[in-house]
Amino acid sequence: MHRSDLDMEEVLTLLNIEMEEDIPGRDRLRQAYEEYLLLMALTFDKILYGEPCPHHRRIAQSLGAGDTVISFNYELLMDYALHHLQRDGIQWHIKDGYGISCDPLAGMPATEDLQRVQETAATAAGGSNVKLLKLHGSLNWLYCPQCGQLYAYEHSDARGHSVIINGMANMIQCTTEHCCQRLSRVIIPPTLMKNYQSIPFIPELWQQARQALQRASEIIVIGYSFPTTDFRSNWMFRKAMVDNKSLKKVTIVDAAEGYARQALLTKHKSIFRVDHLAFHHDIAEFTSTLER
Ligand SMILES: [Zn+2]
Repeated sequence: MHRSDLDMEEVLTLLNIEMEEDIPGRDRLRQAYEEYLLLMALTFDKILYGEPCPHHRRIAQSLGAGDTVISFNYELLMDYALHHLQRDGIQWHIKDGYGISCDPLAGMPATEDLQRVQETAATAAGGSNVKLLKLHGSLNWLYCPQCGQLYAYEHSDARGHSVIINGMANMIQCTTEHCCQRLSRVIIPPTLMKNYQSIPFIPELWQQARQALQRASEIIVIGYSFPTTDFRSNWMFRKAMVDNKSLKKVTIVDAAEGYARQALLTKHKSIFRVDHLAFHHDIAEFTSTLER
C-alpha cells in the first residue's frame, strides 16, 4: 500500500489552493472538498459515542466561572464535556458558549424539515459563564455566508447519542427569514486563516482569546506546541503575554520526550516570558491533580 505523508490539514490546504485556480471542474472539486469535510466530521463523530472522554470531563469539572478554554481543534470532545457538565454555578450552552451567538439546530436534517431547537428553560435563562473559543472553527458549525448567522447541532439525541454532525452542509439552508442561503462549514486549516478573515465572527473570536490570555493569572497548555505553520497563533500568544500583568502560573501538559521536550519547554518559556513552568508528561496524571 502506498503510504501518503499528507496530513489532514495539508489535504485541506491543497484542495483550497486548487479551488482558487480558475479551472474546469471546479464545482466537482468543491463537492469533493465538502465530502472530505463530511468524512472528517463522521470519523471524529465516532469518538463521541458512549461516555464522554474522562480527561475532558475532568478538565470541564475543574473550570470556574469566567474561565476560558481556547481550542485549535475541530473535534467536539471539549464541547461534549461542557455540554454534559453538571456542576453548580457553571453553565455552558451552544447559544452563547462559543463566544458568539449561535443558533442550535435539531434533528437529523433530511434537508427540508430542519428546525431550530426549542429553547429549554435552562438555555433561555442562559448566560454561559465559561467559554469555549474554537479559533480554527468546529466540525458542528454551519455558517450562512449571506446573513452571517452561525448554527450548530445540539449535542445529543434522546438516547444521549451525538447527533452533532449529519448531512451535507451544502444541503442545509439558513432558517433566517427570507434568507434560505445554503450553509457552509467552518473548518479553518491554520495556513488558510487569511481566507476566513472575511467571516466577521472569526476575528472577533481571536480578539476574545487574546483578551482572555491578557487577563489570565493561570494558563494551562495541553498538547499544543505552537507549530510554525500557525504563525497567527504564535503572534497572538506573544502579543497577549507582553500585555499580561497578572500571570502567576503556566502549566504545560505534553507527551514530548527528550530533545523535543527540551525544545518545547524553551519555546513555551519564551512565549510566556517565564523562567519556570509546571510540566506534566501525561494527561491522566495531570487531570488527577485537578480539583473537582
Ligand atoms: Zn442566512
